[in-house]
Amino acid sequence: MLALMQRTRVHTVHMMVDEASGLRAIIAIHAGRALPAIGGCRYLAYPDDDAALNDAIALAETMSYKAALAGLPFNGGKAVILRGPHVQDRGRLFEALGRFIDSLQGRYIAAVDSGTTPMDMDCVAHATCHVTSTTQAGDPSANTALGVFEGIRSTAMARLGSDNLEGLRVAIQGLGQVGYSLGEHLHAAGAELLVSDTDPARVQLAVERLNARPIVSDSLPTTPCDIFAPCAYGGILDPKTVAQLRCAAVAGSANAQLTGLDAADQLESRGILYAPDYVINAGGLIQVALQYQGIGTQGIAEHLGGIGRRLTDIFAHAQATHHSPARIAQAMAERMILA
Ligand code: NAD
Repeated sequence: MLALMQRTRVHTVHMMVDEASGLRAIIAIHAGRALPAIGGCRYLAYPDDDAALNDAIALAETMSYKAALAGLPFNGGKAVILRGPHVQDRGRLFEALGRFIDSLQGRYIAAVDSGTTPMDMDCVAHATCHVTSTTQAGDPSANTALGVFEGIRSTAMARLGSDNLEGLRVAIQGLGQVGYSLGEHLHAAGAELLVSDTDPARVQLAVERLNARPIVSDSLPTTPCDIFAPCAYGGILDPKTVAQLRCAAVAGSANAQLTGLDAADQLESRGILYAPDYVINAGGLIQVALQYQGIGTQGIAEHLGGIGRRLTDIFAHAQATHHSPARIAQAMAERMILA
């Protein structure tokens, strides 16, 4: 574990077990910049404790990159709550998490993530003020989707020579909070949607309301389209899938899409432009970080516009140096963190 911490530059990992509530949680904080760390709280079942620890550490590093490239004065952090087979009292569990976060005295600020909701953050807020995305503040998914939409326009401009999305075929994998909302923006902009979700009701909704064409889940990544937008889960861009993609670009919200930088190089050599996930999906983080600083809707909307500009900059550097945008983004983030 210490080797992984050294490699990712995560300098602290805090752990808490609370018998009364059943809480078993980990908070990882990146060494990044001398600033409070911000990042989501995951509430998931893990095969074992090591898997949870690895997830928290890897994600804390990614959050640092995301914050740096989004121009946010925050460091990266991540909380992971290990979901057991039985939850007796969810409210009590998240209040215990709030006490854990409070004991860190503002070094980590919590937000929603996979498996948690704004209602859970309300319970965290009973015990600490170092929390965002409560029901009052609102779910950040809509701004994540808006940022991805703007990022798709920049990607289309860089790869296809125009940011007019009319008639563009976009394949969305996963019609959850972000994917469906992204579909609404794309539909309004005149794009043709190809969609998949393991939940048939989500697909039906997109077919009826967004005039989307349903595609069998496993076939979506290899369906011919202009832009493939992974909005379901990470690890989708492995060497085998990348070899079979039939799109001009990949631009979607899912975290940790690449199984490694070799997959990014493979995309590059196939002429498929890749919008780095932690750049294009920063909209939700921008919302929660700015709300925590007391900045209102107007300021958040202005800051969201930076996602498209940052991507354009990364694509230009990538083109000039013949490197993958993923490598350029990582190098830029590391420079910003060390500056
Ligand atoms: P969500 O859970 O609301 O949606 C995920 C959707 O994907 C669900 O509808 C699910 O049924 C579907 N799905 C699961 N497996 C699938 C498969 N094999 N094929 C097709 N569909 C499948 O999650 P979300 O909040 O919309 O987030 C989507 C992705 O974006 C996640 O990877 C998340 O980590 C990332 N992300 C989300 C935010 C945010 O603000 N919500 C911010 C940054 C990154």
